[in-house]
Amino acid sequence: MKKITVLGVTGSIGVQTVDVVYHNPNDYMIVGMSAGHNISKLEEIIEKIPVQVVCVIEKNDAEILAKKYPYIRFVYGQAGLIEIATLSDVEIVLNAIVGFAGLIPTIEAIRHHKDIALANKETLVVAGHIITKLVKEYQVRLLPVDSEHSAIFQSLQGNQNNKIKRILLTASGGSFRDKTREELVGVSVKEALNHPNWSMGAKITIDSATLFNKGLEVMEAKWLFDVDYDKIEVLIHPESILHSAVEFEDTSIIGQMGMPDMRLPIQYALTYPLRKPLIKGESLDLTKMGQLTFKKPDFKRFRALKLAYDAGIKGGSMPCVLNGANEEANLAFRNGQIEFLDIERLVEEAMNAHDWIENPSVQQLLDIDRWARDYVIKKIGESHADNN
Ligand code: NDP
Repeated sequence: MKKITVLGVTGSIGVQTVDVVYHNPNDYMIVGMSAGHNISKLEEIIEKIPVQVVCVIEKNDAEILAKKYPYIRFVYGQAGLIEIATLSDVEIVLNAIVGFAGLIPTIEAIRHHKDIALANKETLVVAGHIITKLVKEYQVRLLPVDSEHSAIFQSLQGNQNNKIKRILLTASGGSFRDKTREELVGVSVKEALNHPNWSMGAKITIDSATLFNKGLEVMEAKWLFDVDYDKIEVLIHPESILHSAVEFEDTSIIGQMGMPDMRLPIQYALTYPLRKPLIKGESLDLTKMGQLTFKKPDFKRFRALKLAYDAGIKGGSMPCVLNGANEEANLAFRNGQIEFLDIERLVEEAMNAHDWIENPSVQQLLDIDRWARDYVIKKIGESHADNN
């Protein structure tokens, strides 16, 4: 019986993790879980599966829930998050919090010798240099949950001692993959949230439309698989069937295919190195697919992807700036405060305005993240003042 903490249990990945655990009650047990503000979804989950300790953001929510569910211990805030990420009997922490907020609990979990199943890619984007060092120091496993990285990880099984020639990181292209840059002017939030292949949380769905998501994944791949950026190639693959692949030195390309279903990489991160049946998993029928198509992304059309490569290659504090600015601009777009193309413009401006640090500490990352967010908020405020 594997004991797990799930961070971000009320989100898209969190709910699918609960589904995997629910259908395998003899294999896994969720000891700790965290939610943000979606208390009704949290209540659905705790009424469905057993749990011992639950963290929410607000103290008030924790107090109300504690009265309603006296057999569960409720904690709150950052301290609560760290508490459930470090519970003594937990073996693996599945981090499905969205954004920079996932960083500190990941660090604390590693320091308490927990294996990490990582959906929260932002952790590696901003602090890959710190996380990879900690993973070695504490000798824990860092298992990818992101479907592309799980595909690469699966392709590497049995090949760990062979050199990677290239990583082929596939991208659906997001909601606007067929639009020209000119056609992106004035697109709505509703259109951007309409992802063709995957049903995901709001932030990552917008990131898929801008292609910042793929950019974050390029950086995630660099840290997970220790490869240089010139060996990570993004391919637009609208069918989302080849989830990514690795080319080895002998030119052999090994990839992983399957129906788009996040429960598979979630489950593999939990069962690794074993594979188990995926309950209600649909087999891929290649004859029904007809054809699989691939093309190179145009960096002028997908400016965000170029910015992410630039930030990754520059390294140090730059990915943290890109990430913080993007989180804030992504939110502002969803709130109707800015246009779609303003997201990448604001991120680029923040990157240009930043005083770069080569090897930022955790405290410096916290400060830089705050700076990048404030920069974007200030720019949006100024442009609204100019328009009035
Ligand atoms: P969602 O927005 O659906 O869920 C995010 C979760 O994090 C929710 O439980 C939310 O709580 C919680 N949360 C949000 N902000 C905070 C905070 N400040 N402190 C603590 N908890 C917080 O996101 P997804 O499930 O889509 O994505 C989660 C992560 O996984 C992201 O990093 C994403 O890039 C990655 N990922 C997601 C995929 C997908 O298919 N969805 C695929 C691959 C990777 P609440 O809702 O209760 O407020």
